[in-house]
Amino acid sequence: MRNEVDIEMEEIDCPFCGGPKHLLLHREDSLQMVRCSSCRFIYLNPRPTSRSLLRFYQDYLPEDESSVEAWQRMMQSIFQKAANLIERYKKRGRLLDVGAGFGFFLSEMRGRGWEVVGVEISRKAMDYAKDVLGLTLHLGPLEKVGFPESDFDVVSGFYVIEHLPDPMAFLKECYRILKPGGLLLLRYPHTTPIKNLLRFFGIENRLYDLPAHLSDFSPKMIQQCLEKAGFKEWRHFIGGYTLPREPGKKIASSVFGNLSEALFHMSGKRFLLPGVSKTVLGFKG
Ligand SMILES: [Zn+2]
Repeated sequence: MRNEVDIEMEEIDCPFCGGPKHLLLHREDSLQMVRCSSCRFIYLNPRPTSRSLLRFYQDYLPEDESSVEAWQRMMQSIFQKAANLIERYKKRGRLLDVGAGFGFFLSEMRGRGWEVVGVEISRKAMDYAKDVLGLTLHLGPLEKVGFPESDFDVVSGFYVIEHLPDPMAFLKECYRILKPGGLLLLRYPHTTPIKNLLRFFGIENRLYDLPAHLSDFSPKMIQQCLEKAGFKEWRHFIGGYTLPREPGKKIASSVFGNLSEALFHMSGKRFLLPGVSKTVLGFKG
């Protein structure tokens, strides 16, 4: 996305509280992450317009076969851990995966006996999930599909919420389409603490993945968002780690993944190592 020349940008108010004031937090080239002065929500500002984003995501995700396989390998352990986590609370039912990509999580859950549906904004990924894996998918965004109220036992979203222009609208829609007692599972990155650490040592990096990532969530912020959307209860987990193709990234991910998982369990499931991706469950109640 960085190389596209025709991205239209716009100045926005805080996507969480609507507050107009913010402080500059980090800059990557001409792009800046800011922190809302009222609620401390961290977001990209200015950011690509919704029209630019839609255009970009229609062609998002690699389409050649080796990239698809690499994607599956990278996410496999996360998907299995998430599936086990869900089944601790719900044994079977109807599951929606938003941002389903190539459909690998849906395929995992279908194999476990779940009735599965996906939403995906990239046509290429959606076609793969439909044609190769034989899954049912709708072209997103979620709010446009218009599922009936109380339609799903579980809604999941892996690395989706940080890409959304209106994360609160998304969470409210998830809440609406979940059955009473339903469960939302979100997987999200938490990059700001690592950025702060690297800046302290004067190390330049592009960890925010701008302008694709529009927000950066801490567990506390995610919790506030879930609460505002109506969820009654939440539980945080480390939930495994990705295995990227590049050897350096793979080692870093595995070291920090194992460390954060160990610290989480040693602390009686309380300590969430800042800077690593996390999984949260929201309960509709
Ligand atoms: Zn705010």
